Amino acid sequence: MKKVLVIGGGLAGLTAAAFLVKNKFDVTLLEASPKLGGRVYSFFDEETKTEIDNGQHILMGCYSETLTLLKMINASQNFHVGGDKKNHKQLVINYLDKNQKQFKLQSSRLPYPFNLLSALLSFKAISLKDKLSLIRFFIRIKFIDSTKLTNLNVNQWLISEKQSERVIKIFWEIISIGALNTSTEKASAKIFCDILKQIFWTDKNSSLIILPSLPLSKSFIEPLYSYLIENNCKVFLSEKCVSLEYTDEKISNFVTYSNKESMKKVYKDFDYVISAIPYYALEKLIDKNLFALKPDFKYSSILNVHLWLTESAASKFNFIDKEFYAFNNSELHWLFNKGSHWNIVISNADKFMGIDKEEIFRSILNELKSFIPINNEDVSCYKIIKEKRATFIPDGITLENRPSAETKIKNLFLAGDWTDTKLPATIESAIKSGRIAAEKIIYNL
Ligand SMILES: Cc1cc2nc3c(=O)[nH]c(=O)nc-3n(C[C@H](O)[C@H](O)[C@H](O)COP(=O)(O)OP(=O)(O)OC[C@H]3O[C@@H](n4cnc5c(N)ncnc54)[C@H](O)[C@@H]3O)c2cc1C
Repeated sequence: MKKVLVIGGGLAGLTAAAFLVKNKFDVTLLEASPKLGGRVYSFFDEETKTEIDNGQHILMGCYSETLTLLKMINASQNFHVGGDKKNHKQLVINYLDKNQKQFKLQSSRLPYPFNLLSALLSFKAISLKDKLSLIRFFIRIKFIDSTKLTNLNVNQWLISEKQSERVIKIFWEIISIGALNTSTEKASAKIFCDILKQIFWTDKNSSLIILPSLPLSKSFIEPLYSYLIENNCKVFLSEKCVSLEYTDEKISNFVTYSNKESMKKVYKDFDYVISAIPYYALEKLIDKNLFALKPDFKYSSILNVHLWLTESAASKFNFIDKEFYAFNNSELHWLFNKGSHWNIVISNADKFMGIDKEEIFRSILNELKSFIPINNEDVSCYKIIKEKRATFIPDGITLENRPSAETKIKNLFLAGDWTDTKLPATIESAIKSGRIAAEKIIYNL
């Protein structure tokens, strides 16, 4: 039985390990932190007695790699199509507008893709002229050769496609910033075009928004861990890879430091290694030149603000009755409604990273007030979670330099959302990268 060492227990590493054990490899997974999941986890908050996510995660119907993995580990039932309970097979986005107004984008019961086109046609937030230019462009996307867009950013592309400022603000920005976690001026038009094709032009389910029904560790990570253990994978937590030795041909040993045992360990007995750690962590272990790694990743933050409403506020705001909302024209992006617990998500949130939590709370509440008449007294508790390096920024140059799974060293493969999956830094990218790295070993490609 061939032995594989997987370094990193985020979704990329867990997926690689899952595919390897499924194919009867002898796998050992080493994770530096005391928990699995990497950037996807939840934890129990003592003060509110709630298990909360490090950040709300959204999947989409076009996440085919993720949906396949969920089936494989028997966890599909932990997810559901989000939006409108009555119309759960349709794309529904409810928007909160200033001055307590609401509007929505909702696909109809017409056959795909007319259900989406009719959603745009009935989208009340934009003028008829804007609707027509949006629909014309929307149809064109299916046929655009995205390789011609490599020198454009999202904003330049949308303007060149005659999208008005209002359509860009109301319609395109929420998709672009949500999916790429950076401004439309920084994100590459090519990757945006590619994901739009996947979301809107794959099939009738690809644009559905899929949400975890349980906290992240329970919906995703525990089923993955159970799958690994049932298939004899050895998983070690609090064990950080601190150095490795290699020749041109192969990695000969890995040195780890175990926090639990306060000691170094040396791993020599393996045939292959998959590194599934972030690029900034890998850079510390290897010589970039030797590995011909060129990228210079820059990162972008995500801010999650959790608010718990008092009992009276929860009944006062009972008009907030949908599962989630998009904010129209605001630095707030999404509100996920979990009853008296609201999770507000702000993507592209670098400007908040250096600010203290009290000030963030004040500023968020102030902005929220222009949508919902909320005051300090309505909030019984709040928690703020900053994820500084949430995702890498998918600008044109970075995308061209993403390394693939294979390296110059024959027994080392790379995985992680940053490797060349052709996708932005998402769950889907992490899972795809893990599957690809595992298959390089399984099929000896
Ligand atoms: C707040 C937030 C919200 C997000 N929302 C969404 C969303 O809605 N939809 C979506 O698709 N994606 C979303 N993402 C992105 C998604 O979470 C990531 O793309 C994905 O989880 C990356 O997985 P990964 O395995 O590549 O990396 P990671 O999750 O970073 O895993 C890497 C692992 O390697 C470990 N490690 C690092 N160094 C070492 C070492 N030396 N030795 C051993 N182990 C090491 C780390 O501890 C970590 O566990 C979001 C991310 C954040 C932070």
